[in-house]
Parts: sequence; structure tokens; C-alpha cells
Amino acid sequence: MTREYGRELGIRTRAVHVGNDVDKDSGAIKRPLTMANSYELPYDPSVLNWSDAGANLYTRNGGTNQRFLQERIASLEGGEDCVVLASGVAALSGLFFATLNKGDHVVFSDVTYIAVYRLLNELFNRKYGVETTMVDSSDPEKVEAAMRPNTKLVHIETPGNPTLKISDIRRIADIAHRHGAKLSVDNTFASPYNQRPIELGADYCVESLTKYINGHGDAMGGAIIGRKEDLDIIRAQSQVNLGGVISPFNAWMIMRGSVTLPLRMRAHNENAMEIARHLKSLPCVSFVSYPGLEDDPGYEVAKTQMSGFGGMISFGLKAGHDKCNEFVSHLKIITSAVSLGHDESLIVFLGEDDERMHLYDKRFHNGFFRFSVGIEDAEDIMSDIDQALRSAGLL
Ligand SMILES: *Cc1c(COP(=O)(O)O)cnc(C)c1O
Repeated sequence: MTREYGRELGIRTRAVHVGNDVDKDSGAIKRPLTMANSYELPYDPSVLNWSDAGANLYTRNGGTNQRFLQERIASLEGGEDCVVLASGVAALSGLFFATLNKGDHVVFSDVTYIAVYRLLNELFNRKYGVETTMVDSSDPEKVEAAMRPNTKLVHIETPGNPTLKISDIRRIADIAHRHGAKLSVDNTFASPYNQRPIELGADYCVESLTKYINGHGDAMGGAIIGRKEDLDIIRAQSQVNLGGVISPFNAWMIMRGSVTLPLRMRAHNENAMEIARHLKSLPCVSFVSYPGLEDDPGYEVAKTQMSGFGGMISFGLKAGHDKCNEFVSHLKIITSAVSLGHDESLIVFLGEDDERMHLYDKRFHNGFFRFSVGIEDAEDIMSDIDQALRSAGLL
């Protein structure tokens, strides 16, 4: 149920209804979880292709819960089709595996999820002879300058993990297409509630479902959204043959979590804006990176492609390495843990010995915090930060 009344239904309606229906067998108003590895074969199985993707044959080829989730995610992202896999990284590696061949060239953002950096900068190039160029994609001219006749893919992440650097999706889509390449955008930090790369011209959108879309910190998954003809290839190569299939249970959990994505994102957006302003007002804070702040380097572009600025903030303290760890140790509501987009607030201190620190702009060089602002009461989150800063002697 994506269209009714002569128009596309709103994102809150789609998050509730697309991919769900009354179960024909039982009459249950929620589709059941189907934990089965295989589906009954037809009278003459020789008519089947054992590598068929999407079919109810064997759960690595396709299954009901993953298909329902694919319908929902495609609808939320405004894409034609979707493949869901075991994790966000399974989606990224599946996309790269299916779209890049020996001798092809890929251009990618210098600020990305760490696995993208490893896959493209260390593995695909050395193991499979894929040419790779890392660029500062917040400057579209640098993307243009990096394009080669054999460039097949441009991969960007915006906002980028962990610095929240913003890249202009429309302009980079134009550049990629003019050079005969495709554009993929990792949309995990924004979520489809705040930004829909396919509608802005991207060919592929990648999501870690582990983060905002599931939203409850209890199931991992990943998705690639795009055109059916492209996704048929990815499904065949990366789901059926690489095998990074999602468990039906996790697909069912993410289906359940995604119902409240629009409501949660509104709370994340509101809380993060308020907390970014609060952090900025504190004398011991050296900088705050949040694309919703009017003086943020990414604000102007973010405003044109995001309808909300998300729940992720990076910030620094005027304090040494040890004091930064001490501050975190005093937090009571905010938990020190990786991952993001969960209901609860999570923080990570990224110290100056992080190997990619030199790629980030100078503000980040002395260590910084990546803060996933949760949906708790903003006032309580701010009190928690303030008391921890005071306990560490910073406020
Ligand atoms: C977490 C994350 C991923 C990887 O997702 P997993 O589900 O952990 O494999 C990819 N991209 C971004 C931007 C992320 O934050």
C-alpha cells in the first residue's frame, strides 16, 4: 500500500502499512515470522533455477520476511526495488562486489564508514585490481577532477561518519552521470525520513538498517535501494552467491522497529538541534559539528537536500586525552558504546591516534566525540552532559 486516493501516501502511513497485510492463513493482522530454511518445491523441480533470486525456494534465495521488509524500505526511500542483507557492511560489500570489475575505477568520499575505507582502499584494489580514488566529496570539483574514463561508481556518504561532513548529492549525481558512472549514497546517518538520495538523483542508496531504521539497538541488517534491473544483478551475485542473507527473525524485528521511524526521527532531530546549541554555548567545548547549525560548513547544502538534520553530532572538548575519557566515565544516561541511531543516547571518544584523523579537518585532530543523540528528554541528556563535565572539572 504505497498509493491511495490518487496520490502517494505520507511516510508515516507507509512506515505503518507498506509490507504488512492480513495473514491469509490465520487472519492475523500482522504478517507472521517464518523461520524456515526451505519452501516446498513444485511438482517438477527441474523447471527451477537453483540460483534464482527472490524466489521462495531456499531462504538464501529469498523468503517472505525479507521480501516484506524490502517492500517497506523501497517505499520509504522512494526507490523501485530493494535488497536487504545481513548488515550494512554486507550491503556495501555486496554493492561493490556486484558493480565493480577488475580494471574499473571507483571514486569515494574521504569521510566514510570505516569498512568502506578498508574495502576500497585496502581490499578491492589490492585483491581484485579495482582502481580507487579517495576525495573530499564536500567539494564537487574534486569529484569531477577524480573522474576517469573507466570510473564506474562514485560512492559518497552524507552526512559522513564520523565528522558529519556534507556532500551535495544532486551535483555529484550530475557529475557521475555525465561521465557514465553511477552514484551510490550511504544514507545511514540521515535515514529516509530526513533525506532520500534516490529522489535527488542517486542510482543506489545504502542503509545500515542496524541504525535508525530498526532504531532499537537489537537487530542488524543492511539494504541497497535502486532500480530493479540493477538490483536483480546485486541480488543474484551478492545475496545468493556471496550469501550475506538476513535472518528472517532480524527482518521481522526491523520491520517492527521501522514502524516508528518517522516519530523517532522527529525526536532525534529536535533533541540534536537543542543539544548542539547547548554544547556550543559551553566554554569548554572546542567545536560542534552538526549540519543544522547555521554556521556549520555543511549547512547550506544540507538545507537543500535534508528535511531534518538528524540525531548525530560530533564535538570536541578543550581538554586532553585522559580528561576526555574521564568525562565519558561520569555519564549516567548516555552510554559509551559504538553503533548509533538507537533509542538511547550513545557516545564514542575517537582519540587522536585514530588512523584516519589526518583525513579530517583540523578541528577534529586532537580527538573528538561522536554522539548519537537518543529520544530521551533533551533536558535530561543536557543535565547528564553538564554533570559529567563538572565531575571531570571541565565546567
Ligand atoms: C554502521 C554503519 C554502516 C555499517 O552497518 P552495519 O549494520 O554495522 O554493518 C555503514 N555505514 C554507516 C554510515 C554506518 O554508520
